Amino acid sequence: MGNPQAAELAGALRLLPSTDELLTTQSAMGLVAKIGRKRLTSLARQAIEEIRQELSREITSRTGRAEAYSKESLLTAAGERLEILWESRRASRLRKVINCTGVIIHTNLGRAPLSRDAIKSIEEAAGYTTLEFDLASGKRGRRGASVEGLLTELTGAEAALVVNNCAAAAFLVLTVFAKDGNVIVSRGELVEIGGDFRIPDVLAQSGASLVEVGTTNRTKLADYDRAISESTKLVMRVHPSNYRIIGFTEKPSLAELSELCRRKNVMLYEDAGSGALIDLSGFGLTDEPLISQSIADGADIVTFSGDKLLGGCQAGLVVGRRDLIEQIRRHPLYRALRVDKLAYAVLEKTLESYLREDLQSIPVLRMLASAKGEVEARARAFADRLKLAAGVASVGIVDGESVVGGGSAPDVRLATTLVSVRHPVFSADEIERKLRSSETPVIARIENDEVLIDLRTVEMTEEDRLLEMLAGVLV
Ligand SMILES: *Cc1c(COP(=O)(O)O)cnc(C)c1O
Repeated sequence: MGNPQAAELAGALRLLPSTDELLTTQSAMGLVAKIGRKRLTSLARQAIEEIRQELSREITSRTGRAEAYSKESLLTAAGERLEILWESRRASRLRKVINCTGVIIHTNLGRAPLSRDAIKSIEEAAGYTTLEFDLASGKRGRRGASVEGLLTELTGAEAALVVNNCAAAAFLVLTVFAKDGNVIVSRGELVEIGGDFRIPDVLAQSGASLVEVGTTNRTKLADYDRAISESTKLVMRVHPSNYRIIGFTEKPSLAELSELCRRKNVMLYEDAGSGALIDLSGFGLTDEPLISQSIADGADIVTFSGDKLLGGCQAGLVVGRRDLIEQIRRHPLYRALRVDKLAYAVLEKTLESYLREDLQSIPVLRMLASAKGEVEARARAFADRLKLAAGVASVGIVDGESVVGGGSAPDVRLATTLVSVRHPVFSADEIERKLRSSETPVIARIENDEVLIDLRTVEMTEEDRLLEMLAGVLV
């Protein structure tokens, strides 16, 4: 090799540590117990490979000199790289965060936080349970019977069934009842919920053909009436969860639609999306379908989510006529979409809270119900504590709004009081980023170069930890 660069590179590469050498360093030895030898070895190889590639780039682009590298410095560099690689692996794991955004059902942060009872029930259900066992007879029991019973009590429906999520529930209902037939949907209800759930696509996937009726803003009962034909399998009503059509609008009530469907002998299915088990209009949520009302109005099947306004875990709840629910239960797709014991445990406790009318125990409802004065009192007390711990940062109080989130009630704004934080040296972006990488990550928002904290979505029991994380970033 006549090329001096190539010779320099070859010389530098000879100084790189071997995997074995890297694994016997103090820092690598410290990681073995946490990572396991096999995984650590593979990370060590990756660390050395990354250093090798960087060396090649530096030398061939002449930004570095061979003299700058020594066996020791490369071993140290590889050791540091190993730790960085491990840290970035760890950072991607599922972590608890403190939600200071004021978005109650935050889809990216796992939607509804669970009630204390529900959390306890997960631990109990984690071992062996009576999932499909009847203690009285010692024989096989029916999976989900208890939760289904609670659902019928709460909604007045004849029967109920639980699947993986509301998207699965809609897909299941359409597959079981509308495959190879027509489904009538208003043009005002052909919605997309969060990118990957689009009503026309779900319909197509289930093997049903979409028959659109009406217009985007107005659909009349007569439009449905005219569209119903021999090949109509069902009429689908979709709650346009995450957007609103306002102004010159019209749609028949569910009761009117039900009367028409009955007369024409066609099934009526409502995808209520979030759906409310109790009347939430007192919290300003006047548009969410009340599931018991939908059943009373004559919907044959209603589906809704377990982890939106209901305040439980991810699940799709299906309620309605007994004959139809049993038909779904017998379909092979139900077996593929059913939920596990942990979901039943959470739903059971959450639904029991509703039946006890103990709404304060369900975090989503508690946060919704927090009056502005209540949040303000907490914000003031928290700001006072933070001022003492925040060094040169300036801490204030400012009016703001919280939102429901989770694709529910997009037009509802809840008046709130925010704690604002400003720092003479660190920018709001910097503070927000550091909060995210705290030991307990804190998710906040920024407005007008201020970091804003909405305690509506922070549990009282999280406040001390939040204070600690803020102080760590600000001082
Ligand atoms: C949210 C929503 C869904 C999807 O529910 P997941 O539980 O997220 O699967 C389906 N339909 C409507 C109308 C919704 O609002």
